[in-house]
Amino acid sequence: LDVRGLTWRPFGRTEPILRGLDLRVRAGERVLITGPSGSGKSTLLRALAGVLGTTESGELSGLVLVDGDATAGHPAGIDEAAAASSVSVGLLLQDPVDALVAETVGRDTAFGLENLGVDRARMGARIAQTLDAVSFPYGTNHSSSQLSGGEAQRLALAGVLVMGPRLVLLDEPTSMLDPASAAAVREAVWATAAASGATLIVVEHQLAEWLPRITRLVVLGEGGEIVADGEASVTLVARRDALARAGVWVPG
Ligand code: ATP
Ligand code: MG
Repeated sequence: LDVRGLTWRPFGRTEPILRGLDLRVRAGERVLITGPSGSGKSTLLRALAGVLGTTESGELSGLVLVDGDATAGHPAGIDEAAAASSVSVGLLLQDPVDALVAETVGRDTAFGLENLGVDRARMGARIAQTLDAVSFPYGTNHSSSQLSGGEAQRLALAGVLVMGPRLVLLDEPTSMLDPASAAAVREAVWATAAASGATLIVVEHQLAEWLPRITRLVVLGEGGEIVADGEASVTLVARRDALARAGVWVPG
């Protein structure tokens, strides 16, 4: 992933939300992006997924390059047809209800795979396994229209992970979960990335919980600029003052 001079100003605003961001992420890195509310984290993830500028109107400049070629292995356990069609970028939106598209849990999880032309019946086991991994409590026949926020969040996450994206972008994936479910989700995300060699970028406020599983920490400041970027534990210590100035709570 190569981001150069990324700037975004929605029409109607005088100040840009993202201000000249430069970010290079190597394949297989696990990056946590944090920063105060309103600093542009969700906007940045949408820009990385290539949806900014198509769904929102504004002035977008700079460059986002996602290396789609197969430098790393295929997701473990996925069958050949799915591997051949595995998508390059998967995005979990901050509001998971936005992401639910089908009437049942099974159809919703399979939606992306079906769009890629993968036979749903052949993917049954993988779908069930992914729902289980994120500790989703219902079976595939369950209605997806009456889920709690946390259930919808895990279902939406399963829909992203099941596709085996090379670049996984998750916007606060545990924000609606109780501590046990959140821990299960972190583990599922980490295990999926580790097994497939996918690059992982997670937006989160919960630094302490994610720290053992990430390699790099990027902090956005109030002005939509990067105020710290480096190896996670080193950055937390070395840039403590910068993080505090940016309003980021640093675990002790
Ligand atoms: P949080 O931690 O609360 O999720 P965030 O860092 O994800 O915050 P964003 O959702 O990226 O923040 O929003 C950054 C800023 O851009 C906010 O001030 C928000 O109001 C504004 N914003 C987001 N989307 C748009 C849009 N389409 N048009 C205008 N302003 C927007
Ligand atoms: Mg956000």
